[in-house]
Formats: sequence, C-alpha cells, structure tokens
Amino acid sequence: MDNLGSNFIKDVMIKDLESGKHDKIITRFPPEPNGYLHIGHAKSIIINFGLADEFNGKTNLRFDDTNPLKEDVEYVNSIKEDVKWLGFEWDDLFFASDYFEEMYKRAVLLIKKGLAYVDDLTADEIREYRGTLTSPGKESPYRVRSVEENLDLFERMRNGEFANGQKVLRAKIDMKSPNINLRDPVIYRIAHATHHNTGDKWCIYPMYAFAHPLEDAIEDVTHSICTVEFEDQRPLYNWVVEQCEMDSKPQQIEFGRLNVTNTVMSKRKLKQLVDEGFVDGWDDPRMPTISGMRRKGFTPESIRNFVRETGVSKGSGAVDSQMLEHFVREDLKLKSPRTMGILNPLKVVITNYPEGQIELLDAEINPEVPEMGTRKIPFSREIYIEKDDFMENPPAKYFRLFPGNEVRLKNAYFIKCEEVIKDVNGEVIELRCTYDPLTKSGTGFTGRKVKGTIHWVEATNSVPAEFRLYEPLILDKTEDENDAEEGKTFLDNVNPESLVVLQGFVEPNMRESRPHDKFQFFRHGYFNVDPKHTTVDKLVFNRIVSLKSSFKL
Ligand code: ATP
Ligand code: MG
Repeated sequence: MDNLGSNFIKDVMIKDLESGKHDKIITRFPPEPNGYLHIGHAKSIIINFGLADEFNGKTNLRFDDTNPLKEDVEYVNSIKEDVKWLGFEWDDLFFASDYFEEMYKRAVLLIKKGLAYVDDLTADEIREYRGTLTSPGKESPYRVRSVEENLDLFERMRNGEFANGQKVLRAKIDMKSPNINLRDPVIYRIAHATHHNTGDKWCIYPMYAFAHPLEDAIEDVTHSICTVEFEDQRPLYNWVVEQCEMDSKPQQIEFGRLNVTNTVMSKRKLKQLVDEGFVDGWDDPRMPTISGMRRKGFTPESIRNFVRETGVSKGSGAVDSQMLEHFVREDLKLKSPRTMGILNPLKVVITNYPEGQIELLDAEINPEVPEMGTRKIPFSREIYIEKDDFMENPPAKYFRLFPGNEVRLKNAYFIKCEEVIKDVNGEVIELRCTYDPLTKSGTGFTGRKVKGTIHWVEATNSVPAEFRLYEPLILDKTEDENDAEEGKTFLDNVNPESLVVLQGFVEPNMRESRPHDKFQFFRHGYFNVDPKHTTVDKLVFNRIVSLKSSFKL
C-alpha cells in the first residue's frame, strides 16, 4: 500500500535484514480491547502494517486482553472492523489471553530461578516502598521468601485461595535501580473477574509489563513498535524476555504518539464522554475515533494520507486538526458529486413564472470531472433559498438578495426581489421575486451582469433533510493544556456548541441516497449521509468539512 517514507524504524529493519539478524520482518498491532480505536491508533496501525508490508513481512492483530475488568467483545469487534476499514489485513489474529498458561509457566520459571516472589504488601505500601526518582526504594519484608514458599503461594493464588489485592507476584530485580520500572515490578495480580475470552478459568492476571514482551516473543515479533512513554520500560522488557528464556528476542522501538488539537485521545477520557452522555456513543461524529470519523464522512484514504504526512519520529507535538480536514477535502474534491441543499430555508415565490409549470434544468455533477456527467434539477414558481442570502437592510458590498436587487440562481435564472412578506412578529417569511427568462444558465446571456450567485432548491419536489454541523469537541488546543489547569478536568473544556442541527431541503435526485454517500453541497462543504439517523422519511447529513480553509501544508 502507501509508502511511509524513510524513518528511523525502517532504518533499523533494513540493518537487521542486511546483517542477517532477521530474514523476515514481523510486527503486530496490539490494542487492548477496552475502547474503540482512535486516530492515534491509526498511526500505530499504519506504521506496523505499512513497514512490515514494505519488506514483505507480516503483521498480526493481537488483542492485548490481560485486564478483564475493562475489556469487552464489543471492543474486539469494533477494532477488527476499524482495522479492515482503514484498509489493512492482518496475517494472524491472536489474543494474549490464549497465552495465559504459557505466561504462568514463565512466571513459575522466574520463581524457580529466585527472580520472583509473592508479596503481601498492600498496593499503597508497595507504592510507598517503591521510592521516588530521587530516593531509592525499600525492600519488602516478603522479598526473602523461599522458592518453595513462593511456588506454593503462587499456585494457591491461581487456585483462588486469596482475595483481590491480598497478594501479588513481583519480579525480584533491584529496589535501588535508578529506573523505577526495575524496582521489583508487580507481574501478576489477583482479579476475581470474568474474562471475555477465558471466562472464569483464571483469577490471576499478568501485568502489561510482564505480558507484553512474552506475547511479542511467543509470536516471533521482530520489532515491537510502541509509543515513547514506554521507553523507560525497555530495560524491563528486555529483562523479561531474557530471564523467561524466550527463544525469540524482539526489539522494542518507540515513536512519538500522535496528538491532534481540539480533541482528547485517551480511551479513558473518550469513554467518559460516552458514559456521561456528552456524545451519542463511541461513533459520534465529533469523536476522534475511527468509527466516529467514518460516520462523519472521513475516508480511509484521507486518514492514511494524513497520518503519512505526520511522519514517524520520536517527537509528539500536537498536529493541527485542520490538517485532517485538509486531507479529506483533497480526497473528496474529485470523487464527490456536487449538489444544492438549503440548510435554513426561506420560501421564494417567482410571481411571473407560470403557475403549475416545472422545468428541468441541466447541471454538471462535478465541473472538475466532466466525465461524471450531468444531473437534472427541477425549477418552478416556488423555491427555497438560504435565510442568510437575504437581508432587508444590507451593508455595503452585500451582493446577495435585498429589496430591488438581482442575483443569479446557480444553474438557473436571474431573480429580482420585489416584495418582502413578514409575519406578525416582523419576521421575514417569504420573498416575492420576478425572474428574467432570457438569463437562463448555459444560454450565454450577456445582457447585464449580477454580482451574487446563490443556491436554491425547488420547493414542491424538494426532499426534507436534516443537516448536522460540527465544531471541535474540546475548546482547548491541546490535551496537555487542559490537563494542566488546576481544579478542572477536560470535561470543563467540552464545547457546549459542538453540534448544530438544522432542518432544510435537498434536490429531489438526492432521494435515493444511501448511508455513507458523500456530496459537496454548493457553498456549504462536504457532507456524508449519516448511517445512524437516516430513515426512509428523512435524510440526515453530517458535515464532514466546510469548503474553505486557511490551512497550508
Ligand atoms: P490510550 O492511551 O488511548 O488508552 P493505549 O496506548 O492504552 O491508548 P492500546 O490499545 O494499548 O491503547 O494501544 C494499541 C497501540 O496503539 C499501542 O501500541 C499504542 O502505543 C498505540 N497508540 C495508542 N495511542 C496512540 C497515539 N496517540 N499515537 C500513536 N500510537 C498510539
Ligand atoms: Mg494501553
């Protein structure tokens, strides 16, 4: 598929193939099924699949499902769907939970080698004993337990003899290590919980730092690509692979995680937005999830092109969300049909147009792609225009409709505003206009010029439609910024006006539109037919992105 350009991870792979360290590159994408995938995961997917692909290697999809408390098959299924939709095919599908027996054996091996012990300290005590960056840790009194006692206790942990938190298994490394991760990390904990895959078979579960290197080694992963927060865990990763006597020795390589402005990306926060009703599910179009972006109308190509543009590096500054919009605009420009929709309707009666007559006008489907052909749009005595395209008392340089002024209706005629009808509250409810039959589009009329062109929809045949316009979900620019403010959580920065819903009309030829059809509405931007809210009676359009951008690559 798409090429990732040169980068430091690829350089390591090239070197390893040239030196004969590996003859095939094997990577994995290892999500924990505790939420839906987001745009940050897309980056990890593209790097893992993209790099292996460039060397004819293989990539596994592995569910890192070692924490039964937070995981669910709903997430497993959504993750599979999203990876496929992004355009990737995994070679093997694995669940870390399938290795629980193997992991248990490796833990027993550590105990036998005197490299692991059962600890009775509480979680708080363990934290306290761990020390800080500036002070060394303190050894647990249970650290001196004999191998026999540890083997016995660990087995009894497995057999369910102890309550949650009563005991843990810890690696015996070095409580004085400057790297806190090496101060006897917990590698197994007790959790009496039903696991989505193994059911009630286990009540002890391996911790990420122990499980992950074993998973990689079991699968013969050559390059274990992860984000930079795990850099300090690399010595522990290598320790586990070494001391557990794994045949395969995967190499962990870190890259900078993707951050995007005006959103949050941690699954914990995304889940909170869903659970507390700030959005309508993980696939709400305002969410940075793959399913939300898909529902909004992003294409896999636009996401891949965006991620490729952000590059592979160790840094992780926030990327402007406008860059994402840029790539979807670019992708849809030549693909999507153009059409007209009225988001905020104002009725216009063309008084000199014959009553009962409907004529069909020709319009191009996409002027930039003549091969897409033409469409027919009806025109009659009654049309809708946008409320915003009329002003009773316009400022200078307002070129749209106002009393006495003439504008062009896109693909149709010039009309002139003759009369303004208001309701009892003084609200404008209808305009009376006249049209000039000589000014029909495409006839080469040059008699006079008008300065404004507005869009419209014929009223009697129009199709009702709902338009959903989105603004950024989070007001603050970056995730770090909104984490930093004291006494506040990111929820205080949720934009209360991130969704505007409007009821309007679209051209009759839109009646047959299907979920996920994408259009460019003249002057309004690109829209996607919403798969969740569209019914046989009503089309619902999500605005993907407006037409204009100040963003430059
Ligand atoms: P979160 O912090 O959102 O909960 P996570 O890292 O816990 O994400 P995992 O399911 O463990 O989520 O992630 C699977 C893979 O995706 C990991 O290798 C992780 O490093 C990578 N990943 C997660 N978020 C990002 C991101 N923002 N940019 C790049 N890679 C990411
Ligand atoms: Mg994680």
